[in-house]
Amino acid sequence: MTNSQSRIEQSEFIGASLTEISQLPTIISTARAGFREYSQMPIDQRLNFLRKLRYRLVERQDEISDVIAASTGKIKVEALTTEVMVVADAILHLEKRAKKALATTRAKTPITFIGKQSYVEYKARGVVAIISPWNFPFMLAMVPAVEALAAGNALIIKPSEETPPVGMLIESLFQEIGMPPGVVQVLYGGGDLGEALVRSSPDFVHFTGAVNTGRAISAVTGPELIPTTLELGGKDPMIVFEDANIKRAVNGAIWGAFANSGQVCMSVERLYVHNSIFDSFLDLLVQETSKLNVGNDANDDIGTMTIHRQVELVKRHVKAALDDGAKLLTGDHPDTWEEGSLKLQPMILTNVKQDMAVMQEETFGPVLPVMRFDSTEEAIELANDSRFGLTSSVWTQDLARGKRVISRMRTAGALLNDVLLTIGNPYLPYGGNKESGVGYEHADLGVQNFSLQTAVMVDRGRKLREVNWFPYLGKEELFQDLLQSYWSSTRNFGIFGLSYLRLLRKGRKG
Ligand code: NAD
Repeated sequence: MTNSQSRIEQSEFIGASLTEISQLPTIISTARAGFREYSQMPIDQRLNFLRKLRYRLVERQDEISDVIAASTGKIKVEALTTEVMVVADAILHLEKRAKKALATTRAKTPITFIGKQSYVEYKARGVVAIISPWNFPFMLAMVPAVEALAAGNALIIKPSEETPPVGMLIESLFQEIGMPPGVVQVLYGGGDLGEALVRSSPDFVHFTGAVNTGRAISAVTGPELIPTTLELGGKDPMIVFEDANIKRAVNGAIWGAFANSGQVCMSVERLYVHNSIFDSFLDLLVQETSKLNVGNDANDDIGTMTIHRQVELVKRHVKAALDDGAKLLTGDHPDTWEEGSLKLQPMILTNVKQDMAVMQEETFGPVLPVMRFDSTEEAIELANDSRFGLTSSVWTQDLARGKRVISRMRTAGALLNDVLLTIGNPYLPYGGNKESGVGYEHADLGVQNFSLQTAVMVDRGRKLREVNWFPYLGKEELFQDLLQSYWSSTRNFGIFGLSYLRLLRKGRKG
């Protein structure tokens, strides 16, 4: 495969045919027809499909994780724990929670609307386009897919062109559980197809991928006013205080930075360590990192990179840092990397500066730059000094201190003495701040986000008119009394009641 070609252009990967852009109008109308039937199914029936999917997932776990590992270069156990298990748990979570999250919910009605009832009804949005990346090609397509299906939508999934076998896997799973026709369609193609899909007026777009692609999608969905969730890149900081469990923090940093070869949006991409423990921490970090094996066997720890253009980006960041005075403590100098190889040794960098690309831009590879800090304020400032705001982690054995620091993190997820995990807890909302994204998925919020929330107010319809309707004659003073008596510091229910009664009486006339 040449560096410029995506895997989908390689005939050896293609068992499904590429989707032509000209097919999109038919795909959209098929989805709309599927939606009409599926959205009317009771939620129990929809959740039955998802339960079947969960069982099938577990039955096929070995094969699924093999396909993911072969398509991405990640270690099979990572495919199992970070993709298959996360999807299975997301489904189980929906089976437990979706009915409650989507149940019509009574809302309170303020006293000024006395006599009326209020509630919120959740309805499916319609046709949802899900566009996903290559780094977790199964999980990042399937989790939003099952949420959107629980909410009653029809889906058009456009998985990454870099991992087409995973797209085929997704398609086969939905076929096996007997989804009604048109409810789930999987498309095969690259960014041009993704763009055309977004331009085909779906009712909702859920995108996971790079910041620039997120901007390109927003440039289409913004003017069209299509609701869109964007899950984008990250540059996640890890802060290690002097009272942390050092060995755990070292192991956590290594896993957080090098799992999936660092190609994780929530990878630890910046490590800040307190000055007083910096040297001993770094020694242990280097020592433990040098024990890791890179390769694609079951005995290996770090898999290979997935795509060549990502290797090139990593090379640029590391080279620029080294040229600017950084030191490489583990791994190989980029000048010595084997041409065309996807195998990268884990790299620890010191002597880095906050303004280097390796500290500011998403590297998305097995690179861990480490910096020292002196005070809590400095650590918080450095951690928040980023265009991104996905997750962060704080390491201290003083949990109260850790929580105080987390309260000041400008990230949409945060962990105390752990890394990456928030995305794996389906009870927690997941999203990004700043350039890391817009909107949330997961938790009750996720399934609700895939729903049109209709706010309803009901009046029994017996009164001739409401107090705030025409005619206005003589009402201004009464409304002023109402405001004064109910919302001011000198609340007076007597005056409030009297003013309200007078307004009511005016309403009865005529
Ligand atoms: P990418 O943006 O290049 O591609 C993602 C998907 O978008 C692919 O399916 C691609 O075909 C499609 N696409 C490309 N151009 C498009 C366009 N103009 N309109 C519509 N669709 C288009 O991203 P990638 O390289 O596959 O993934 C890596 C990026 O994803 C990293 O930046 C990473 O941080 C991010 N990511 C974010 C999260 C998160 O949850 N926040 C999770 C995983 C990955």
